[in-house]
Amino acid sequence: MLVAEWILKSLAGSGRVPGWIPLSVPEINGKEWIYVKECLDKGWVSSVGSYVTKFEKAMAKVTKTRFAVATINGTAALHMALLVAGVRPGDEVLVPALTFVATANAVSYCGAHPVFIDVSSTNWCLDPEKMRQFLETQCRMRGRHLVNKVTGRTLRAVIPVHLLGHPVDMDPLLAVSKRYHLTVIEDACESLGARYKGRPAGSLGDIACFSFNGNKMVTTGGGGMIVSNKDAWAKQAKYLTTQAKDHPQEYIHNHIGYNYRLTNLSAAMGCAQIERLAEFRKKKELIAKRYREGFDHMTPIGFQPTASWADSIHWLFTIRLHPSYAPPRLIAYLKSRKIESRRLWRPLNRLPMYKNNPSGDIVLAHALYRQCVSLPSSIGLTWSDQKRVIKEVGRFVQKRTRR
Ligand SMILES: *Cc1c(COP(=O)(O)O)cnc(C)c1O
Repeated sequence: MLVAEWILKSLAGSGRVPGWIPLSVPEINGKEWIYVKECLDKGWVSSVGSYVTKFEKAMAKVTKTRFAVATINGTAALHMALLVAGVRPGDEVLVPALTFVATANAVSYCGAHPVFIDVSSTNWCLDPEKMRQFLETQCRMRGRHLVNKVTGRTLRAVIPVHLLGHPVDMDPLLAVSKRYHLTVIEDACESLGARYKGRPAGSLGDIACFSFNGNKMVTTGGGGMIVSNKDAWAKQAKYLTTQAKDHPQEYIHNHIGYNYRLTNLSAAMGCAQIERLAEFRKKKELIAKRYREGFDHMTPIGFQPTASWADSIHWLFTIRLHPSYAPPRLIAYLKSRKIESRRLWRPLNRLPMYKNNPSGDIVLAHALYRQCVSLPSSIGLTWSDQKRVIKEVGRFVQKRTRR
């Protein structure tokens, strides 16, 4: 083995401080080394190469969709999906109040406006019933389109976010979306491998997006994917992500395109990662089961509920503390015990750039923000490390109760 290879290998396995339990780090011990080395050996490192196509095919297969288009990251995938779905400047797009900011930012990139809807107590994802209420009371039909009564803007689409590995309750969401002619763009960035009534996340709406960031279920370092059953949309996405090239050799471009391509090097890593998806899912399930059992007797601790129709991948196992506890205190305590944890996202309607955007009544998203902490959930998390996490969370909870 080359020295450089040896150094890289030893870093990849750990890459971490001894004794420190990270939140979510990649699992890199499949064929990544072989596939990436092949790219390096052959010089196919950039945005054209067989691994990009292979990775797209593999993603279409696991999500049971017909087409897949690789992108540079999940945010770019969302941006492109919105564009090909026909979201235009001045439109409005429904987004859950509780999600990573990228979901709303992608809407803004299109010159459109995110409209925030609260999440559901049964799974913490976008609540189709609260969405229906907003549309019925705050909007009206104008011809074929639904218009916001206050802003006068057209509601064009909705982005259900499969949050923390758990799918959105899609059937009622699809029914409401159909009634009001809204396009459904799934943000499945946190939920590769999750299933809704047996069907894969990403195959449920009109078009869907995935992320392969370092902390996600499958990683390419950074990367993303659009999947869809719509041939024309997939073709348009490929076209726009590759600078809208209208001639194979000459520089003829008839639209403003983007350089949102994934490199072959990244795709090679993705091919190796996705081969192990079933194994990764099993491991995440085991981690979730152990946490649930470990916290079972601790009354101040609840979890993200798993709906009967859902196969969650438990991307980040997240606990909900009794309101008398403060998440930042638990996070600081765990940090002092060399355990990484983190809060949920600040509800997007509270961020300065979105505070004046339209929204429904948002209650649960704020409560979850005030009460939740995500715990170490890496695929490689060992049972002894996980026991340490459970023990330390238990200690924190007990100390606080006695006071
Ligand atoms: C990670 C994530 C994204 C963005 O993905 P990147 O690859 O980081 O750009 C979008 N939405 C959600 C819900 C995410 O968790």
